[in-house]
Amino acid sequence: MREFDGHELVVFGNDVATGLRAIIAIHSTARGPAAGGCRMWPYVSTQEAVSDVLRLSRGMSYKNAMANLELGGGKAVIIGDSRKAKTPELFQAFGRMVDSLGGRYITAEDVGTTTADMANVARATRFVAGLGAAPGAAGGDPGPKTALGVYLGIRAAVKFRLGRADLSDVSVAVQGVGGVGYHLCALLAADGARLSVADVRPAAVQRVCEEFAAQPLAVEEIMAADVDVLSPCALGAVLNSQSSPRLRARVIAGAANNQLAQGQDGTALSTMGILYAPDYVINAGGIISVSREYQGGSEAQVLADIERIPLRLTEIFERARRENRTTNAVADDMARERLGHRAQQLVA
Ligand code: NAD
Repeated sequence: MREFDGHELVVFGNDVATGLRAIIAIHSTARGPAAGGCRMWPYVSTQEAVSDVLRLSRGMSYKNAMANLELGGGKAVIIGDSRKAKTPELFQAFGRMVDSLGGRYITAEDVGTTTADMANVARATRFVAGLGAAPGAAGGDPGPKTALGVYLGIRAAVKFRLGRADLSDVSVAVQGVGGVGYHLCALLAADGARLSVADVRPAAVQRVCEEFAAQPLAVEEIMAADVDVLSPCALGAVLNSQSSPRLRARVIAGAANNQLAQGQDGTALSTMGILYAPDYVINAGGIISVSREYQGGSEAQVLADIERIPLRLTEIFERARRENRTTNAVADDMARERLGHRAQQLVA
C-alpha cells in the first residue's frame, strides 16, 4: 500500500455492542507518544479508511516534529457517519481501544468529532485531550488555535512574498468557513483584509458575509479567485494538476491537511511564482493546544508556541529560496531530520 511508511503499529477495533469500527495508526513514537486526532467519516471501504489513517498519522509525525513537540505521530479513524452514528457508548468503546495501547497513542477531536465526544472518550481513558478547559488553562476546541496559527502564517507569507507589513487591503479567499475558517475570517477582517469566501453550506457563508463584510463566491470559483492569498480550509488534495493551472493567488496558506495532491504539485506552484506555506507547519496551532492541555500547561504557553509558527515558516521560505527548492520539499526534509535525529538520540 502506497501510504505505508514503516508505521510502527496499526490496530483495528470492532465493538459489536456499540457498532464501533475504528483504526488507530501509530506512525512514529521517536519523539514521544503518538498524538493526533480522531476522524469520524463514512468511508466507503475499509481500504479507504486504512489509506486515510496511514496518510494522516504520518502527517502528524511531521507536524509534531516541526512544532517542536515532544510527541510522535498518530491518528485514529472511526468508520461511520458523524451526523447519524454517534452515541456516548461508541466513543466510550473507542476510549477503551485507545486505553488498550497504554499511552502509546493520545487522541483528540478532528473532522467529525467534537469536545463533547472527547468527554465520552475520557470516561474510558486518560490518553485524550481536546476537552473543556478551565480559565487560563490550555485546552478546549483546537479550531480557534489552528486559525490563529494560520492567520500569523498568512501574515508571514504576505510579508515574504508581497513585501507587505500588514494585511490592510490584502485580498484573501477562504475555502471552507467551518470551525477553523470562521475564526480565521474574524482575525483577517480585524486586520483589514478583504475577504471572499465559499462553502458548501450556504448558512456558513451567509454568517461570515454578514459579520465580516466578506464577498460570497461559488464553490467552483474560489480556487481560481483573483486574490493575493488563497486559504484552503476545507478539504485535502485541492492543489492538483487540474486546479493548479487556474490559480491566480500569489500566496497559498491555509488550514486543510494534505493540500498538495502530490509532492510534484508543489513544483507547479513554485514554477508559477506562488508561495506555498506547507500545511502541516502553518496548521499546527490545534495540536500545540492539545499538547499543552495534555501536559497541564497554560493558555499563555499555547499562545507563545503558536507565535513561533510564522518564524518557522519564514525559515522554510528563506531556505527554499536559497536552495532553489520548493517549500514543501524543504519542510519535509526538516521534519525528517527532526524525526531521525531524535530516534538516534533515544537509541544512543
Ligand atoms: P470543519 O468541518 O468545521 O469545516 C470545514 C468546512 O469546509 C465546512 O464548513 C464544510 O461545509 C466546508 N466544505 C466542505 N467541502 C467544501 C468544498 N468543496 N468547498 C468549500 N467548502 C467546503 O473543519 P475544520 O475543523 O474547520 O477544519 C478545516 C480543515 O483544516 C480540515 O481539512 C482539517 O483537517 C484541517 N485542520 C483542522 C484543525 C482544527 O484544529 N480543527 C487542525 C489542523 C487541520
